[in-house]
Amino acid sequence: MKNQLLYSGKAKDIYSTDREGVILAQYKDQATALNGVKKEQVAGKGRLNNQISSLIFQHLNEAGIATHFIEQLSETEQLNQEVSIIPLEVVLRNYTAGSFSKRFGLKEGIKLKQPILEFYYKNDDLDDPFINDEHVAFLDLATADELAFLKAETLRINEVLQALFADIGLTLIDYKLEFGRTKEGQIILADEVSPDTCRLWDAAGNHMDKDVFRRGLGDLTDVYQVVLAKLEDKFKK
Ligand code: UDP
Repeated sequence: MKNQLLYSGKAKDIYSTDREGVILAQYKDQATALNGVKKEQVAGKGRLNNQISSLIFQHLNEAGIATHFIEQLSETEQLNQEVSIIPLEVVLRNYTAGSFSKRFGLKEGIKLKQPILEFYYKNDDLDDPFINDEHVAFLDLATADELAFLKAETLRINEVLQALFADIGLTLIDYKLEFGRTKEGQIILADEVSPDTCRLWDAAGNHMDKDVFRRGLGDLTDVYQVVLAKLEDKFKK
């Protein structure tokens, strides 16, 4: 099933498979922050993120969002539709946190009047700079129609994800999405949705996401395990 290594990322290795247009994502036990400056092996992280992301993508598929997710294969592996990733990090914020709080000098956890969407240019050498619509056009990253679709789809995904996390007692503070183009040119949701890519706070304001690692607040696997258990309980897996 697993053939040639196509790409090795910070959190996942991507392999070709015997199926045309299908790739295998192997989630790794590596945690990184600050664009890879902080890096650690964390036993169990790959399994937790693969399981969490699989449950969330399954739910998004069922909610009518087109995604790359096909099926979970094993604890650390899943099958995805092959896409060409658009080098944009689409960030949606429901509450202030992280770089947004820093930029505007605001404490974290203030509810925004309406969700705020941001784009970052996915480029490690440049440290993923913040960019606007005109930069996206200048860099030829997406057409105006595609950009409008990315925005509308990210807001639609926000409705599904906010409801899902609210159901398990977590507030979706913000998150990052990546989209890809299929061979036919359709744009679908790709990459992962997990506590690596979402900020999730519990009712007491505890960080249930990668900020635990970024800020040295505690054990990452303990926290991710709680998120997985809540999702499994919701989906009665
Ligand atoms: N994020 C991500 N990958 C990145 C940068 C950000 O998944 O390379 C997520 C992050 O986990 C958070 C959201 O995007 O849920 C917004 O992150 P922010 O811009 O506040 O940056 P940070 O404070 O994490 O550097």
